[in-house]
Amino acid sequence: MPELPEVEVVRRGLADHVLGRTISAVAVEHPRAVRRHVEGGGDFAARLAGRTITGVRRRGKYLWFDVDGGTDAVLAHLGMSGQMLVAEADRPAAKHLRIRFTFDDGPQLWFVDQRTFGGMSVHPLVPAAGGDLVPAPIAHIARDPMDPAFDLDAAVAGIRRKRTELKRVLLDQTVISGIGNIYADEALWRARLHGLRPTELLTRKQGREVLGAAAEVMDAALAAGGTSFDALYVNVNGASGYFDRSLDAYGQADRPCRRCGTPIRRESFMNRSSFSCPRCQPRPRTTH
Ligand SMILES: [Zn+2]
Repeated sequence: MPELPEVEVVRRGLADHVLGRTISAVAVEHPRAVRRHVEGGGDFAARLAGRTITGVRRRGKYLWFDVDGGTDAVLAHLGMSGQMLVAEADRPAAKHLRIRFTFDDGPQLWFVDQRTFGGMSVHPLVPAAGGDLVPAPIAHIARDPMDPAFDLDAAVAGIRRKRTELKRVLLDQTVISGIGNIYADEALWRARLHGLRPTELLTRKQGREVLGAAAEVMDAALAAGGTSFDALYVNVNGASGYFDRSLDAYGQADRPCRRCGTPIRRESFMNRSSFSCPRCQPRPRTTH
C-alpha cells in the first residue's frame, strides 16, 4: 500500500503533468473505480469534460484535483495498488486501466489499479478545520506531519486529550493523518517510546518528539522517492525502495536495534504487528 511520502510523490508528479490542462473526455473503463461516485460513471465523465485542473492537493493519503477553481473537486485514493500514469494516447492500454483522462492536448492520464480498492469521485468542497476547502468525504481528516500548515502544538494537545494508547492515536486519522503502521513504529523507535504509553501521561516534549520523528522519517522517504520520474511514461506511484534500506524497527524482528544492539521485538497491536526495541522502548507500567 502506498505510504504518505509515496502519495506526496504522486501529488508532485500530477502537479507537474496535469495542472492547468483542460480535460476533453473521461472514459471509465471499470465501474468499481468510480463506485464512490454514487451518480455513476456516466455522470462522473460528464461532470469533468471541458473542465480545467486548477489544483492538485492532498490531505493524508487522499489526493484531489480542483477543477475550474470552483466548488467541487475530483477526489482520488490509491487504495492498495492504485497508480497514476502519464501516457501518450497511442500507447497500448495498461492491463488494469480503470479511468482514462484525455486532455485537449498532450499525453493522457491513466488511473491504473490492479486490486481496485482505490478510486475516484466528484464531490463538493466544504470548509474543514483551519478553514481550508476540502472534498466533503474527507472533511474529518486531520492535516499530516508533512503538510506545511501542520500545527505541531495543536496535534500534541489532540494526542494528550485522547486518553488512549499512543500508537492508537498516531493511527487515528482525525487527530493526525497519514501515519500508518510502518511510520508509527519508526517514529516511536526514534522517540524511544512504547506504543502502549497512555497519551494523557505523555509530556508535551515527548509528544513533539514522536511527531517530529514521524515527519523526519517521512521526509527521508520522500527524498529517497522523489527521483522516480520519467517524462514520457510516468509512474507517479513513486515506489521509492526506501523501506528496503532504511527501517529501524518495522519488520526488523530479532535483528539488533541499531542504537543498543538488543533484538527488536514483535508484538500484536490492533490486529497488526508492532515492532520496537525492548531496551530503548520499555513497556509502560501503567496501560489502558
Ligand atoms: Zn534499542
